[in-house]
Amino acid sequence: MGVLAAVDIKFLPGVGPKKAALFAKELNIQTAEELVRHYPYKYIDRSRFYYIHEISENMPFIQLKGQILRFDKVGEGRNQRLTAIFTDGKSTLELVWFQGIKYVTERYKTNISYVVFGKPSFFNGRFNLLHPEIDLPSQLPPPETMGLQPYYNTSEKMKAGFLNSKAVQKIMHSVLPHLQSGVPETLPAWLLKKYALMNLTDALINIHFPKNANALTKSRQRLKFEELLYVQLNILQQTKWREMNIQGFVMKKVGHYFHTFYSDYLPFELTNAQKRVIKEIHTDMSGGKQMNRLLQGDVGSGKTLVALMSMLIAIDNGYQACIMAPTEILASQHYDTICSLVGDSGVRVALLTGSTRPKAREELHGTLRSGELHILIGTHALIEDPVQFHNLGLVVIDEQHRFGVEQRSKLWNKNVQPPHILVMTATPIPRTLAMTLYGDLSVSVIDELPPGRKPIQTYHYYENKRQALNSFVYKQIQAGRQVYVVYPLIEESEKMDLQNVTEGYAYFQETFPDVKISMVHGRLKPAEKEYQMQQFVSGNTRIMVATTVIEVGVNVPNASLMIIENAERFGLSQLHQLRGRVGRGADQSYCILLTGFKLATDTRKRMEIMTRTNDGFEISEADLQLRGPGDLEGTQQSGLPFDLKIADLVRDSRMLEIVRNIAMEILNDDPRLEKQENTILSRQLKTLKQTSVNWGNIS
Ligand code: ADP
Ligand code: MG
Repeated sequence: MGVLAAVDIKFLPGVGPKKAALFAKELNIQTAEELVRHYPYKYIDRSRFYYIHEISENMPFIQLKGQILRFDKVGEGRNQRLTAIFTDGKSTLELVWFQGIKYVTERYKTNISYVVFGKPSFFNGRFNLLHPEIDLPSQLPPPETMGLQPYYNTSEKMKAGFLNSKAVQKIMHSVLPHLQSGVPETLPAWLLKKYALMNLTDALINIHFPKNANALTKSRQRLKFEELLYVQLNILQQTKWREMNIQGFVMKKVGHYFHTFYSDYLPFELTNAQKRVIKEIHTDMSGGKQMNRLLQGDVGSGKTLVALMSMLIAIDNGYQACIMAPTEILASQHYDTICSLVGDSGVRVALLTGSTRPKAREELHGTLRSGELHILIGTHALIEDPVQFHNLGLVVIDEQHRFGVEQRSKLWNKNVQPPHILVMTATPIPRTLAMTLYGDLSVSVIDELPPGRKPIQTYHYYENKRQALNSFVYKQIQAGRQVYVVYPLIEESEKMDLQNVTEGYAYFQETFPDVKISMVHGRLKPAEKEYQMQQFVSGNTRIMVATTVIEVGVNVPNASLMIIENAERFGLSQLHQLRGRVGRGADQSYCILLTGFKLATDTRKRMEIMTRTNDGFEISEADLQLRGPGDLEGTQQSGLPFDLKIADLVRDSRMLEIVRNIAMEILNDDPRLEKQENTILSRQLKTLKQTSVNWGNIS
């Protein structure tokens, strides 16, 4: 067969042009090598039959043997589901389907022996199998010859084209004999030896058809190691390049603007954490290297102030600064906040967003170019715009996960030398992970809230408490407070999304006829959105019914109650962000998480964590554990040179650290990977770079 990278999959047995086209379109797989790099996403333990009473939480996919006693259809229309009571002769368990109900009832009969496969899930106090696979025992080889069976991700279109997981498995099997000569090793022999790693051929064989659990573990280790190593080599090489080629503006002085602000305008004492972080930033800004710093601090910890004072240092040294926010609302809030903080101290601030009028825009361009303007605040319009600074020295990016790599790289071109960069986020992530996603950066943490904040009280209510909740809402409003009601964004269906929020709006209007209510959702025109927000910010409206468009950063200190509808649909970090919209004033604030009765184990845990703690770091840890980093906001647009197929930046965080150190050792010894023993590394790195999209000049 030759080198697999050169073999078009349509020539593999059982493939042909039609299936090849599906592979290409759905999975981006065109060559036999790309095919064998498509790893199973799970394995089913078919080496034995389990009993229902042996089932416990966190089990992999298992098989049971027994009979279906009866089928029950529950619910109507889209909420319909089918359950089957299944027995293994000792105890019973429910099988559940939400789709394909007709097919299942026609195909499977009661009181016949079946083998069922599935991953046990815990629901309403008992285990069940959701969408299990069912076979007649006679259709299956005896368990002792089966071992671990690979399962492959396939799309609906692939399944319709007879390319389900089993078909992929068959094709995969036909390629295995050619692996030895067909896929060249991608790690140097000395590395394999030194870290006792499986060679690539064995790893690929065992990732698809594990001889046993141990071989599977070894092969996964090897493949993860490889992925993470190339990620790290790439990032570290870039870092080295930057260190050698890029200088930073030197901003040693702490002068007039900073001191005036500090002594005459700052309305409160800085927290110790804020002081420490400002020092860290100043040290970076005066050190001669370009700063690339991540500022982590929980919602409400006072990051804006730190940003402002860092910008004042830049101004004191003759530079301009800018803040980039993810939305117009946020940008104009920053603008208002900063204007009122600096007052008449002589700092000149302007706002630039998509809705800035051409005339104002022109004026602004003038003062920017002349250097009269000190601070420019805006959305990404700020980098898209042909804005030219007189001397841009510091860029602050708020809520970094909303910004793509490409946008960040554009900032570099706003001055002859790249400005210092300060990225602020309320979603803390572990250090090595941050460095992997955002390249070489240092991290500052504000781990202290301003004094006098009352912790937000959080409660989890089921739908049946709505009456009680309504009277609580009314009490808050009568006491002069304001209320948020947030509905989830339903990405698959903008229509449903809109329906949810508009129905909610109607409900609250009906329930509180004498209360003025705002509504904000993604379908509104920017101007209308702005108007609705402004009405709430100014206190004209008392309730804000919204989708998650309000998630980030909005500041209305008078709001004391956050109601999150369908809270089960939100991730932990998002819930925490939303909750952070209240608790900003002197009053006791509350957050109510509303859910339906039936909750999956994970959801229950999320609600439990939210009601137990206000600590953003604890929450983000838990979030990573529960969700895994695949969902981590921003990873898609991160600085990774290629998709990770098997390594998991959070679950494999230990390996990530180890591999980072190994990569450092390699590059310290051989910075450009020129040594003979590293030929494989430099060649593979080059191949990976060529196949990836644009990830050139990013930090
Ligand atoms: P975040 O970190 O979420 O961006 P902000 O910068 O919006 O937080 O600050 C939240 C609120 O806390 C603001 O109203 C701000 O004025 C206030 N604040 C910031 N620092 C202090 C401080 N040291 N003492 C008292 N209040 C502060
Ligand atoms: Mg903020």
